[in-house]
Amino acid sequence: MGIVSVSMPEDLLEEIDDIVETHDYSGRSELFREAGRKLVQEFREPSLEDRDLVAIVSALFPYDSPAVETKMTELRHTHASAVRSNSHSCICDDQGCVETFIIEGELATVSEFVRDVEATNEDVQVEYSLFPVDSIQRPTL
Ligand SMILES: [Zn+2]
Repeated sequence: MGIVSVSMPEDLLEEIDDIVETHDYSGRSELFREAGRKLVQEFREPSLEDRDLVAIVSALFPYDSPAVETKMTELRHTHASAVRSNSHSCICDDQGCVETFIIEGELATVSEFVRDVEATNEDVQVEYSLFPVDSIQRPTL
């Protein structure tokens, strides 16, 4: 196994040491090996350009936000050709709401949709996952 020496700001190193301790890593080396493997895997992923994608887009926002809910409805209509489904869930005790969209299209289509959701206002937190349609496995049975 090769050995590397890395310079790193003190505050980042402190955060890394916290993670090592709270998540039971055997030490910094184990954490850096795992981080390295994830990065290598990410760079090896084939490009998402020119592929049909399915995206799950979630927007979390405060309960009873009529302006945000109106915007979500508008987005569903303006992106109707890409929206496969849309649902609204209220979180227990009026703590907030989650709007979930399933989007299908090429990267530009999905990116435009995500940008439009993010642009709603600063109360809206957005997360998304992407899956290339051509990565779907054929059933083995
Ligand atoms: Zn709700």
